[in-house]
Amino acid sequence: MASIPELFGSMVFNDTVMQARLPKDTYQALKNTMQNGRHLDPAVAAVVAGAMKDWAIEKGATHYTHWFQPMTGIAAEKHDSFISPTADGKVIMEFSGKELIKGEADASSFPSGGLRATFEARGYTAWDPTSYAFIKDNTLCIPTAFCSYGGEALDKKTPLLRSMEAISKQALRVVKLFGHEDVTMVHSTVGPEQEYFLIDKAMYDRRKDLINTGRTLFGAKPSKGQELDDHYYGTIKTRVAAYMRDLDEELWKLGVLSKTEHNEAAPAQHEMAPIFTTTNIAADHNQLTMELMKKVAERHDLVCLLHEKPFAGVNGSGKHNNWSLSTDTGMNLLEPGETPHENAQFLLFLCAVIKAVDDYQDMLRVSIASAGNDHRLGAQEAPPAVVSIFLGDELTAILEAIENGTAYDAKEKVQMKVGVHTLPRFPKDTTDRNRTSPFAFTGNKFEFRMLGSSQPVSEPNVVLNTAVAGVLDDFAAELESAEDFNAALQTLIRRVIKEHKRIIFNGNGYDDAWLAEAEKRGLLNLPTTADCLPCYILPKNIALFEKYGVYSEAEMRARYDIYLTNYAKVLHIEACTMLSMTRKDIVPAAIRYGRELADAIISKKAAKRGIHCKVEERLLVNIQRHTAALVEALDALDAHVQAVDAMSGGQERANYYRDAIIPAMDTLRAEADSLEMLVAKDLWPLPSYGDILFSVR
Ligand code: ADP
Ligand code: MG
Repeated sequence: MASIPELFGSMVFNDTVMQARLPKDTYQALKNTMQNGRHLDPAVAAVVAGAMKDWAIEKGATHYTHWFQPMTGIAAEKHDSFISPTADGKVIMEFSGKELIKGEADASSFPSGGLRATFEARGYTAWDPTSYAFIKDNTLCIPTAFCSYGGEALDKKTPLLRSMEAISKQALRVVKLFGHEDVTMVHSTVGPEQEYFLIDKAMYDRRKDLINTGRTLFGAKPSKGQELDDHYYGTIKTRVAAYMRDLDEELWKLGVLSKTEHNEAAPAQHEMAPIFTTTNIAADHNQLTMELMKKVAERHDLVCLLHEKPFAGVNGSGKHNNWSLSTDTGMNLLEPGETPHENAQFLLFLCAVIKAVDDYQDMLRVSIASAGNDHRLGAQEAPPAVVSIFLGDELTAILEAIENGTAYDAKEKVQMKVGVHTLPRFPKDTTDRNRTSPFAFTGNKFEFRMLGSSQPVSEPNVVLNTAVAGVLDDFAAELESAEDFNAALQTLIRRVIKEHKRIIFNGNGYDDAWLAEAEKRGLLNLPTTADCLPCYILPKNIALFEKYGVYSEAEMRARYDIYLTNYAKVLHIEACTMLSMTRKDIVPAAIRYGRELADAIISKKAAKRGIHCKVEERLLVNIQRHTAALVEALDALDAHVQAVDAMSGGQERANYYRDAIIPAMDTLRAEADSLEMLVAKDLWPLPSYGDILFSVR
């Protein structure tokens, strides 16, 4: 194996490769486009395309693809080979600037939420030069945005790029107010911690529920679960270690900064965290990471489960979206500084996030909503469905002191004035850790912890970037027109703290008392996807995204539609899979075991007349009782599935899944799980939770 520095980024057309392979002026022109969003000259694109093709062919690539992220949540690619016929019946390898910049994809097979009129099936992919091209499976992959004929976004990348522009523009105004004239761009940065399960492929293959839906729809609680907490940070098993090594290598080749790997709380659960980077690249890299996690697992006869809740009663998987703002001069805007001046700027950005999260709780909730994630949120393992911010005691005390104009440090007796000269030094490393908060300040960044493990990080970051951009816009306007900057700053920060402190909660998010308290504070509690999706099209939210050109109203309505449909589809597949597994596997197993018991009773009685068979009879009665209840639950679920089929409205259907189908699925599962505990192991058709969770050595 090559050394890691040699390996790292070896399959990426990155800055080093560009410098080495592009003529100087082409390189400069491309850099200009990447950094300042300048329009790219077609002549430049042609030169870049040629260099890219030569490089890719040297690396063994035969094809190229526009790699994009449609609304399905997984990346899409359509491969074209480089070959081009010549007059003498041979081929040459070609790749033009036009092919690099723009592609045409049939949009009709991707969800568009009605944006794509049926007569115009074409969609377009457009090169995103801010994310490097890379080679995967002998194919040159060009990161692209995907939009309709009319220019509406049909993907996850386009709005993310738009939101990054919005926040850069507004944050820039604010840093200029603090005298940082040298800053020309502000990036939002993201480091997503990715949780996943690894299970044995042989177990997986025997479970239709895992195959069809990514999660187990049945399964009695194992006698050993995660009670002992012996898995968290435990020694990594040999097969898993080999997998992680292989995965790291693949990720490093693609320039993904995979940094830490460890076991998570549940048995068979693990986590990988990369080093943070610009949001757009982090989003692309997370997409690649999820894809590779699955692919590399196959090589090891393992299956990687990215579902938010593969096993009931065992911790689910999330994704922690670490987020901050960073200037092109290397300043982290959420880092408390050394001087009062730096701290005043820090406080202003902190307040911007506080206000944005409070004002757009609903959009943040929607941005992470999915049928899978509904199982996690509020389930005593993940943050509750109520959005709140953890700041830690010290930072909260500072904000309180500012609000009340009292001394923060009793010894120093300085009044808490935000004016850039008067603020005392901040404690740097607040060590308190809170694992239950949905949105936690962790020293120099915020950690948004509500994301589901399988979801792309784009959407939540679109919301974060845009909401904070909106607040920074207002802040900048207020401060730019102020006569006395320090006085205006003090007033502004005090006002924001007063108006938005309700969103700050440092306590235990798993506590039931918190839900009651949150309600008193007027915070939203939207437990399910069906509950929160309508927020997507509230006028205040549409107004925000339209104002910054991130989404048009049509795009938002389309997305609302796509998410509703997706929720219903996922639950439909789950319900149908349950029906089929119950009929084909579980009922037959129960009946077979019943017959075994009956046979045992008959033969015992035949052998010795008048003998008691109390144990066998009791078991048989029990089996029959649960089987009857199972069949009843099966019929009930079946009837509900047929009822929802007849409904037409998207929201109406979603609500019906929430109110009728999910409870019917729960009832059916409870009966099946009771039977699993009763029926002989050799007759039970499915590997048990114990078999699956402890299968990998
Ligand atoms: P923990 O498990 O304690 O939350 P980890 O080290 O596993 O911590 O993850 C922290 C993540 O936060 C890493 O992905 C890291 O790169 C990321 N991170 C650190 N600083 C920033 C920043 N300024 N912006 C975005 N992400 C950051
Ligand atoms: Mg974390």
